[in-house]
Amino acid sequence: MNIILFGPPGAGKGTQAIKIVKNFNLHKVSTGDLLRGEIKNNTDLGNKIKSKMDEGTLVSDNIINDLITKVLSDKKFYNRLIFDGYPRNLDQAINLDSHIKKYKQKISCVISLNVDKESIIKRVLGRQTCANCGLIFNKYFYPASSKNHSCDPKFLNKRSDDNEKIIISRFETYLNKTLPILDFYKRQNLLHDINGMTKIDQIFDEIRGIIASLET
Ligand SMILES: [Zn+2]
Repeated sequence: MNIILFGPPGAGKGTQAIKIVKNFNLHKVSTGDLLRGEIKNNTDLGNKIKSKMDEGTLVSDNIINDLITKVLSDKKFYNRLIFDGYPRNLDQAINLDSHIKKYKQKISCVISLNVDKESIIKRVLGRQTCANCGLIFNKYFYPASSKNHSCDPKFLNKRSDDNEKIIISRFETYLNKTLPILDFYKRQNLLHDINGMTKIDQIFDEIRGIIASLET
């Protein structure tokens, strides 16, 4: 079974991806990891990618597609992939479609974590990390108090880049780029929308239910 996971930045997609990988013995595919892997292994492609990144230019769809093809053709990962943060645009989705067929696989389901803009802003802006013990709190959803935290409150840090404008712009970019892809999968009856605003375990239960129903 191959799965694609979508969700805007701050929706908790990474947390769910880890749980899915563990529970269903899948292999996570993220383009960031693939790019870093090539560079680390010093391949020809890796060197090409590194020079692009050093120049500050975006890595082309062609390179991304080559990397994805490599994973799809790897017998080790046959039919047990979860795509995280890919495809990023409709062209990549169409490309994935054609290659996945070529390697006699298919997309089993597409899961989209839905959250509204207000909640994302609160989640990201409210996030506080303790510089002393590393615990993570949220000013709105899970405030630090003497009951759950023993360090001095002065250690609580806000992430510096998390100002509201950046969050809103990242969220809107995500929606603009992702909605056409979600439509593409909806037409193939593969899309499952999930409410991403409930508790982590509740979200995962829902995801598990969807995946379990595919396995039979
Ligand atoms: Zn602490």
